[in-house]
Amino acid sequence: MLDADFFRRWMTATAASVDREAERLTALDSPIGDADHGSNLQRGFAAVVAAVEKDGPDTPGAVLVLAGRQLISTVGGASGPLYGTLLRRTGKALGDAAEVSEEQFAQALRTGVDAVMQLGGAAPGDKTMIDALVPAVDALGESFAAARVAAEQGAEATTPLQARKGRASYLGERSIGHQDPGATSAALLVAGLERAAG
Ligand code: ADP
Ligand code: MG
Ligand code: MG
Repeated sequence: MLDADFFRRWMTATAASVDREAERLTALDSPIGDADHGSNLQRGFAAVVAAVEKDGPDTPGAVLVLAGRQLISTVGGASGPLYGTLLRRTGKALGDAAEVSEEQFAQALRTGVDAVMQLGGAAPGDKTMIDALVPAVDALGESFAAARVAAEQGAEATTPLQARKGRASYLGERSIGHQDPGATSAALLVAGLERAAG
């Protein structure tokens, strides 16, 4: 079973890998965006960690709803509201249970990913974070490790795609040949699950 501490560790692990990979995320956002994805997420996840440690939300749902709100309010960029919605809606789907099973979490995360697709209008293949998140959710029933691999492969598979959503879509065919920054950070988020599980 997964408790509030597990979800706090998930956020801490994600913040640490976002810090470590910030330059790479910003570099990916340079040819097909505005070179701020790393700093956007660093600011966002620093606020998430501060909030979940200070306010001590005591259920999985409360941790993720609080984390989502922090991302929405601190990240000025497309990715803030999208990641914020992902975590907030996943948290809402978990309700107020003190512990949730991995299967319940996988179902809730699917609800969260669906909400991101609804908000942003992106489908798989549009060269966005969705290309890492959807395969991850599909593999989550197997294991956290399988979800990480699926997300990493999904992120790498965005390289030959032409962007159809977000800032990169303004480039048309010139967006081809670059890995999507948001799909890359989504793989970091998914990888954080394995690290939180220890
Ligand atoms: P901005 O483009 O506002 O500077 P970021 O650089 O932080 O925001 O995030 C860019 C990432 O957000 C993209 O690489 C893409 O993965 C994701 N993204 C942008 N628009 C959408 C959308 N409509 N749906 C899903 N993801 C999106
Ligand atoms: Mg950007
Ligand atoms: Mg920006």
